[in-house]
Amino acid sequence: MPEDIITPEVEKTLLETFAKELKGEVTLHVFTKKGHNDQFNDVLINLVQGVARIEKRIKAFYHQIGDADSARFKVARSPSLLISPDKYNIRYTGAPLGEEGRSFIAAILMAGSGRDFLEQESRNRIKKLSVHRDVMVFVSPTCPYCPQEAIYAISAAIARPDVVSAEIVEIYENLDLAEEHAAMSVPKTYINGELTASGLEPEHDFISSLLAGEPAAFAGPIQAEQPPSEKENRDFDVIIIGAGPAGLSAAVYAGRSGMRSLVLEKANVGGQVSITPVVENYPGFQQIAGKTLVDQMLRQAAQYARIKQGVAVNDIRAEGNNGKLEIIASDGIYHARAVIIGTGASYRKLGVPGEDRLAGRGISYCATCDGYLFKDSKNVMVIGGGNTAVTDALYLDGIGARVTLVHRSKDVRAEDRLKQVLFQRNLPVLWETKVVEFIGEKKLDKVRVEDINGQNRRDMKMDGVFIAVGYAPQSALAKEIGIDLTLEGYIKVDDRMRTSMPGVYAAGDITGSEKQITVAVAQGTIAAITAFEDLTKKTVR
Ligand code: NAP
Repeated sequence: MPEDIITPEVEKTLLETFAKELKGEVTLHVFTKKGHNDQFNDVLINLVQGVARIEKRIKAFYHQIGDADSARFKVARSPSLLISPDKYNIRYTGAPLGEEGRSFIAAILMAGSGRDFLEQESRNRIKKLSVHRDVMVFVSPTCPYCPQEAIYAISAAIARPDVVSAEIVEIYENLDLAEEHAAMSVPKTYINGELTASGLEPEHDFISSLLAGEPAAFAGPIQAEQPPSEKENRDFDVIIIGAGPAGLSAAVYAGRSGMRSLVLEKANVGGQVSITPVVENYPGFQQIAGKTLVDQMLRQAAQYARIKQGVAVNDIRAEGNNGKLEIIASDGIYHARAVIIGTGASYRKLGVPGEDRLAGRGISYCATCDGYLFKDSKNVMVIGGGNTAVTDALYLDGIGARVTLVHRSKDVRAEDRLKQVLFQRNLPVLWETKVVEFIGEKKLDKVRVEDINGQNRRDMKMDGVFIAVGYAPQSALAKEIGIDLTLEGYIKVDDRMRTSMPGVYAAGDITGSEKQITVAVAQGTIAAITAFEDLTKKTVR
């Protein structure tokens, strides 16, 4: 049996959470079969015993696959976990470990109260669903994006138990299912067997694909006739777009200066930092997981600002009510006196044949999310020579993958400290080598590489590839609304973070500055203080 996986600290948090938020009884049914994923069977039993010990209203039941209950609930995979199966169709295929602990606790709270975690707008939309939908979300324990996608699926199964089922599949424990669905990159969502989303999507899009049974089409700006569902909550002093370090520090400063502040994040709180395995250069922390750092930033920011996840901003218009800016978002219209854009940057593609086709089928851009799958001495290639590539290579090596770094230059440009560790660990590096093609049918099989001068072309057999060749600015919104951009597509700002559009500020990677957490945090601070000063001056005038 594994050690008790609920630490005293987690136990204390759970005790408080259940006392405050659990409204009724929940049953957890664990199904296992000896000889199938034994290690995870034990861990799941340990986890369920732990939560049932903490809270009396959580009743645990343990079954063998093959018994009458497994036949009744059609459970064939070990381990599986069903949540209040007499009321809902919610199951974990595999143990909800690591990051997925969050969706597991959310599922208990939802099943106990019968209340989902969706926005009111989504609840109204989901009422219209009249056909059956089986939602399947593939996840991994190290993926920070996954729990939110799982929570959408579980919420839908809670809101409409008559027609929606939710299954959260842990890929490492169910490699055959992951391969069958080409789900080697997570999260991946299937509805009635159709792939509807790769990656975490905004809540609005999830509901759209649930209703349509197909991927959400780009909705475009929401029309004004679509009335805001919570009028009183739609008027703010400042709206911050993006919940990375820049947006979250802006939220702290804006809130503390007395401005009513809202943060809108279309995907995952924390931005790129949340998928950085280890951060070693943020003052105050010698070494901290990126995810832990942003979770702490989030908790702090949430004391000062409202934070909404799963909401994409499609437009900003100058001509709102009372001289306010009008923010057209995927869940309706907001008004604010100032907007701070902190949308960051997204990974850059390599742009070689096979990359798009095999993305999520062995090719990944997120080592933290997808690396777990390769931990048992699988051959993986990391491409790039910056801080991200070297950090990813060290992380993958650390969890047990066999890593080869492939870099087009003679030397890495990563920090000296990272470089030293890379050489100490003696990881193989192919210098002055470029990737020319990714090869594979259903999944990645080989990577075709050649020397930088076009010589010595060869194929290398690989289980996985992690591409880390830098980032491109996420400035489509800024471009759309006519804000001045640099030639590379970053938002132009003055030394107080003002953009060319009055009332609109920008901070963090989107400004093209040094891509460091410290810089993003500093710019978020300056943007919030400047917005406050500008608004105060305006009012006084
Ligand atoms: P980066 O510093 O821009 O490095 C990109 C790497 O990819 C370079 O080595 C580059 O090669 C290579 N590359 C670019 N295009 C390529 C292509 N088409 N084919 C092959 N190789 C290509 O990107 P990053 O490592 O993602 O870092 C982004 C920013 O985040 C940096 O400012 C970095 O300092 C920061 N960051 C910081 C930390 C940290 O402080 N702990 C961690 C992660 C990232 P060349 O070298 O030959 O140009």
